[in-house]
Amino acid sequence: VTTDDWDTERILEADQRYVIRSWSQQGKPAQAAISHGEGSWFWDTDGRKYLDFQSQLVNLNLGHQHPKLVEAIVDQVRQMAYMGPGFAVRVRGELGERIAQLAPGDLDMSFFTTGGAEANENALRLAQHITGRPKVMARYRSYHGATAAALSLTGDPRHHHNGPGVPGVVRFHDPYVYRTPSGRPADECPVCLGAPHIEDVLQYEDPTTIAAIIIETVTGTNGILVPPDGYLQSVRDICDKYGIFLICDEVMAGYGRTGEWYAVNHWNVVPDIVTSAKGLNSGYVPLGAMTVGQRSRDWLVENKFWGGQTYAGHPLAAASALASLRIMEEENILDNVRRQGQRLDAGLRRIAESYEIIGDVRGKGLFYGVELVRDRTTKEMLVPFNATGAAAAPMQRIVADAWQRGLYISANNNVLRLTPPLIVTDDEIDFALVILDEVIGAADARRKD
Ligand code: PLP
Repeated sequence: VTTDDWDTERILEADQRYVIRSWSQQGKPAQAAISHGEGSWFWDTDGRKYLDFQSQLVNLNLGHQHPKLVEAIVDQVRQMAYMGPGFAVRVRGELGERIAQLAPGDLDMSFFTTGGAEANENALRLAQHITGRPKVMARYRSYHGATAAALSLTGDPRHHHNGPGVPGVVRFHDPYVYRTPSGRPADECPVCLGAPHIEDVLQYEDPTTIAAIIIETVTGTNGILVPPDGYLQSVRDICDKYGIFLICDEVMAGYGRTGEWYAVNHWNVVPDIVTSAKGLNSGYVPLGAMTVGQRSRDWLVENKFWGGQTYAGHPLAAASALASLRIMEEENILDNVRRQGQRLDAGLRRIAESYEIIGDVRGKGLFYGVELVRDRTTKEMLVPFNATGAAAAPMQRIVADAWQRGLYISANNNVLRLTPPLIVTDDEIDFALVILDEVIGAADARRKD
């Protein structure tokens, strides 16, 4: 076999026959065969190009093939491709120190993993070890990863297929301002207040049995839910009152996505543990991190940390994160996120004026959701929650229409997710807005079908 044999068809066939793709029934071809990417764009093997308005899995924050990031990884692999986590290695320590400088409050010590799920696994276990308590509270509209405990923490329908999962997960509702938590319309949303609802649940569960409350600071996959002001502080206060760890999962929201290094910074709240991945190093090498504050540090210097991985703090991952953080500063990425976020927000609100199908536009920075409804007054969802097959088709059609026009977006239930790379330009935002106007407009015309 020569490389020349690998035309589009051959690539699709090999993928279909030999690769198990995430979250899908197998035996079907992938959406496309991809040859390469550059900046905010990627190309299929037939030469068509797409604006990556998802940043792949909301992880390629610096876009495709950032030259300085590629160079840093190449330099590191030449110098030291791997060294076991038991040894002190400059690049690991330097990354730990840099994170300590950027992280809020007293968060200053990190355990490095190979992704977000493992960071959450370790955060949960550490909170259980330190508090000696067995249970954890997690929200319904959440995704925390696909390992056993992380999927048990996950509230979205993917956890249904995780068997009984790990014991001790207690579920609570989300700050879903546009709707009641059950997805039905409401003028008021009492649980948006956070504390009263959580305190209710705690009363029934016995707060002395709860090790941690884990939340996505800004909910990502499950609808881009931005908490109202005061929510996060109220959760912090409840945690303090009962000695419960507050774990903020910033795997998607962290490292610039919302226009701050950490999403918690918008509300000046310091969690006990923050988990990161994705944007921490722009996804060029698998990496996650659990970063802890003083309460954990005090315990960790007195006790053993019961966790570890062959690839904990992999030098290539550490080098890519250090380079990514450096590039973010050099290129004023946070400023760009705030500026382009405003441009995107204004454009989406303009589009919403034309089409009844848009129920809600929400987000922060370059972390946006557009919630689609059949009727603005009743807020009936364009597709029912967790719809599959024909019932889900109206949303899939919009995503497919955008793809046909060269725009890569995604949808979760009835919410379109718009998460471009943080390097996105004015022209690219405008390109996306033109296509969004077209495909949402077409869906609006079909709305009552
Ligand atoms: N937490 C959140 C908020 C996520 O969005 C994700 C992935 O999408 C994860 C955790 C899991 O991260 P990973 O896929 O790297 O394990």
